[in-house]
Parts: sequence; C-alpha cells; structure tokens
Amino acid sequence: MTTALFTHPDCDLHKEPAGHPEQSARLAAVTYALADMDLLRFDAPLGTEAAILRCHPTAYIARIRAAIPAQGWAQVDGDTYLAPGSFQAALRGIGGVCAAVDLVLSGGAANAFVPTRPPGHHAETDTAMGFCVFGNVAIAAKHALDHHGLTRVAIVDFDVHHGNGTQDLLWNEPRVLFASSHQMPLYPSTGAAHEVGAHHQMINVPLRAGGTGADMRAAYTAHILPQIDAFAPELILISAGFDAHRDDPLANLNWSAADFTWLTQQICDLADRHCAGRVVSALEGGYDLDALAACAAAHVTVLKERGHDR
Ligand SMILES: [Zn+2]
Repeated sequence: MTTALFTHPDCDLHKEPAGHPEQSARLAAVTYALADMDLLRFDAPLGTEAAILRCHPTAYIARIRAAIPAQGWAQVDGDTYLAPGSFQAALRGIGGVCAAVDLVLSGGAANAFVPTRPPGHHAETDTAMGFCVFGNVAIAAKHALDHHGLTRVAIVDFDVHHGNGTQDLLWNEPRVLFASSHQMPLYPSTGAAHEVGAHHQMINVPLRAGGTGADMRAAYTAHILPQIDAFAPELILISAGFDAHRDDPLANLNWSAADFTWLTQQICDLADRHCAGRVVSALEGGYDLDALAACAAAHVTVLKERGHDR
C-alpha cells in the first residue's frame, strides 16, 4: 500500500491580508515539495455539516458563514481573517481529513497526509482564533469514533503552538488521547502540564524557548510516546505543524527537518504496533516557506516509506 494525499485548489480561496504569515504560498510550497513523490492523490471533498456539528454548534457555523465578506476581508479574531472563499476552503480541510480517515480505515491507503488551509488546531468550540476556523483534526477524530465506531484515537500535535482548540473540543472526550508539545510561553498561552482533560486523557508537554531537537526527542521519549503506547490507539492523527523548525519566524525552537523525520518515525512505530500503521496527518502551521517545504517532505517521506512496507 502507499500514502494518500488529500488537498484542493479551493484552499487558495482562503486569502489573508498582505504580509500575513498564513498565506497561500505556504500550501504552494508544500505541494511543490511533494510534487515528484509517488502518492495516491485525491481532491479533498467538502466537509459535511454533520461532521462539523460533532465539534462546533450550529450557531457557530452560522456565525462564520454570516461573517464571510462579499469582498476583501472580515476579521473574526485578532489575527484570523475570512475572505469570500474562506468557508469553501475550510470545508475542504474538514472534508480532506475525514476522507483520509475513511480511506485509511478502509485499507485503501496505509496512511495519509492532508495539506490544506486554513489550519484548525486553535479553533475552539465557538471561537475562531490563531488563523483557524474549524477544528479539522478534532472533527476527524470524532468522525473516526462516531461514524466508524472506533473507541481509541490518539492525536499527536507537534505544532510549536499549543493545540488549544483541539484540547477544548475534546476536553470531555474519553476516547481520544490528545498529546501536544509546544513552546511555552508562547501563543496561545495554554498547554501547561497540569491541563489533563476531564478524563486525564490529555498530555501537555511545554518546551522552553531555544530548545533543540534533542530536547524534543527526550520529551517525547519520556512523556508522550509511552503514554500513546499504553493507550493502544486504533488510529493516530497528527496535527502536523512545522513551525518548531529553527528558521520559523513565529517561534523559537530549534528543530531540524531530521527531527521531524525522527518524530514521524516514532509515531509510525506506535501505529505499526497498535493499528496496522494507520496514521492520518493534517497540516497546521509552518511559516518559513523553505523550512515548511523541507519538513513536510521529510514527514511525508517517512509516511511513504512506512506505508510502502505494509
Ligand atoms: Zn503553530
């Protein structure tokens, strides 16, 4: 089997004001970096309202839809903007990651990567924030649980920012183990180690500014990987942000592309042990275009190697 890739040109309809770090060029850089890879390529379908409603209330969906401007931008948070095509783009992100879950669980691909935008892990139950509108990965986890009937889904969020939205959306969900590593202090200021969820099913691992890939490897080895192993997930989802790279302009960790390779290998090892290698990874942050492209390629190279072995 191999690795699937779900994305869609509609993601380019999500525009931000000039100079905003979450720009169309990010997805173009990732797409270019993966262009020569032998992947099962799919257009991301539109996400359904039923899928969104597992995480966000009807009133919030209506509020976002109503906020979409006819032209220009609507600001819905300090640093989150909507353009005329943003709702369509956001639906591709939700649909892409849910379709990737469908495909991987059906055995149609070993694993999958879903580069779309806007990203999702900062979107809370009824709040758009941090460039995010809907909680794509949390929605995909609920889809795997409620639609496919899984009982244990693990999420690894290695974006340099805490996945406060995913944490909020799944705070009361005992069937999901959510593990996030993130620089702290840093936006959005949540993610302290004592935030453990309603069922002690959340692992927050704050990392010091200036920390290295070696620090990351030690933290994952000590805290995150053993707990995922003990949880024995039936599916692993990844919130794959690449902004912990040393060149990223929005944070101060010093990871390299090789560190993302190592981390992806560790996650795939756990997936091999517990769930036939089933991993679905969705793009979150990463704002230095060269680093983003190199790290996404490193990440997908591992997924592809591991998928090919299955
Ligand atoms: Zn981030």
